[in-house]
Amino acid sequence: MKLLEEYIKNEGKIINGNILKVDQFINHQINPSLMMEIGLELANYFKDKEINKILTIETSGIAPALMCALKMDLPLVFAKKSIPSTMNESYHTKVKSFTKNKINDIVVAKEFINKEDKILFIDDFLANGEAFKGIEDIINQAGAQIMGVGIIIDKTFQSGHEYIINQGYDLLSLAKIRKLEDGDIEFLS
Ligand code: 5GP
Repeated sequence: MKLLEEYIKNEGKIINGNILKVDQFINHQINPSLMMEIGLELANYFKDKEINKILTIETSGIAPALMCALKMDLPLVFAKKSIPSTMNESYHTKVKSFTKNKINDIVVAKEFINKEDKILFIDDFLANGEAFKGIEDIINQAGAQIMGVGIIIDKTFQSGHEYIINQGYDLLSLAKIRKLEDGDIEFLS
């Protein structure tokens, strides 16, 4: 997605060699019109698939997933990173956070996913695929099905991309980065 690549080139900053900081438009401040374009692109790609629900993880997956859910007219569920005291029965798993280097509990209430669900998972970044594997675990616990994966920024040089492809999932990555080096961002076209 050219518009997204432009934003990344103009406003993205490389941190610690392999982390891309995009706080200007995704991870802290959010650009709503860009998010709308992202949502439309995702919705357009997945529109003919049998999908009845969108799933993401808080926090930064919510904005793009919401725009996509709006366009596809589907409910959006976001996995939480801690177990609220108000939650009854839930599916949970543990996910290693790539940027914060800690383990988070990821939880979804049982009432929001079940074995009839055909799910599109959306997230802001794909790095080593830990978040995806956590979601995959929760979806398996629920007996639901993953129909597709939509990623905003896919760092294809890390292992998550290959994992998702090898599992046979339909993956759409809107910006694919093949290299982050010496302050330079190289896209895979
Ligand atoms: P993974 O679980 O695939 O290893 O990493 C994906 C998650 O880590 C994303 O949900 C995102 O929150 C975070 N993440 C991974 N790489 C980056 C990055 O380069 N920049 C930012 N801002 N977040 C990242």
